[in-house]
Amino acid sequence: MLKVNADRLLADLAELSQIGATSDGGVSRPALTAADIEARDWYRGKIAEAGLDYAMDGAGNQSAILGSDPPSAKRILAGSHLDSVPNGGRFDGALGVMVAFEALRTLKDHGITPGVSLEAVNFTDEEGAIMGLMGSRAVAGQLSAEDFDRAKIDKAELARRLAAVDISRDSMLHARRDDVLAWAELHIEQGTRLESGEIAIGVVNAIVGIRALRVTFKGEAAHAGTKPMELRRDALWGAAEFVLRARKHIMDNFMPGVCNIGKIDAKPGAFNIVPAEAHLALEFRHGSTAELDRMETALLELLEKCAAEYDLSVSWEGTPTVRPARMSETVMRAIESAAQGLGLPHQRMLSFAGHDTQSMASIAPAAMYFVPSKLGISHNPKEFTADEDCVNGANMMLRTLLELLRRFA
Ligand SMILES: [Zn+2]
Repeated sequence: MLKVNADRLLADLAELSQIGATSDGGVSRPALTAADIEARDWYRGKIAEAGLDYAMDGAGNQSAILGSDPPSAKRILAGSHLDSVPNGGRFDGALGVMVAFEALRTLKDHGITPGVSLEAVNFTDEEGAIMGLMGSRAVAGQLSAEDFDRAKIDKAELARRLAAVDISRDSMLHARRDDVLAWAELHIEQGTRLESGEIAIGVVNAIVGIRALRVTFKGEAAHAGTKPMELRRDALWGAAEFVLRARKHIMDNFMPGVCNIGKIDAKPGAFNIVPAEAHLALEFRHGSTAELDRMETALLELLEKCAAEYDLSVSWEGTPTVRPARMSETVMRAIESAAQGLGLPHQRMLSFAGHDTQSMASIAPAAMYFVPSKLGISHNPKEFTADEDCVNGANMMLRTLLELLRRFA
């Protein structure tokens, strides 16, 4: 059975983790900063060393290419991202790029020429130092000029970072690709479902959609001592009632959906004033649009109910939403047959975090799979995936690509 070179993969992962290394064992490689550029240069060097072809598109996405003979117009892509959150871990993204690269190297070592060209991609700015999923959204044709106006860094800094890798806002806006036959990504789970279930591989069937609302409860400010309790219109009481009831309602009715209230502000905001206003940042996620619609209706009804109980008014304002991305049945089956071939226990599951795969799913059959993360810790220097799981992930990618070649080439 064809297997990747495990020692080579693990040695490269160790080497990569030294780039942007933090003293506590993590890495800090925000997109297009010096550390990220060093990682990009390192990847380019590795590609040359492996004798694979190299390409970079207008979005700064880097590809190792194992070409078909004759060269094909369409391609099968796999990969992830080498950038990290500030003070993040060694595996998030990096493992996904390296297993795709290792799979291509293994095929080349064995003199296998694929029926269509294969690419191992490092997408630019997945983590959002600039805007998030930037490279993959560019490839999917989802970036607009407004995205650049809303970038998290100022215009001059953005232009400087793009120029550092010879790309520009304009080249990014024209980086859409229409040559992608299929896409696959490995990522660490960043959760505990695999570890606690002793499952080696999580086959993602959808990446959750995210909706977020800014909620305002309004009551009346009053003296915190003299106003009788029964006459108060305390905006925070309504908000607090909502927070715990929303938790119960989602757990009782919408699992595996989740909701979060990540911020509460009471105004005017003093020890001795009954709050006139309470502001909540409410977010909820689910893998299905229909369920998201039902969750939204239920949460809005609950807001009205909690406001009425405390004689308050309530209003809300939506923020940009992320639609759920359903994964391709064909690519999921390719991943599952890879797991079966390797004798690895696997299970379908939702991804509650965003990934480049959600961009790719809009232009090609796409799916992704997870390997376990110790204790689910992620975006943290303590992030850890065992060597065995890294190697399993790479052999999974090798077989998944072979399966995809059978189905798409
Ligand atoms: Zn990631």
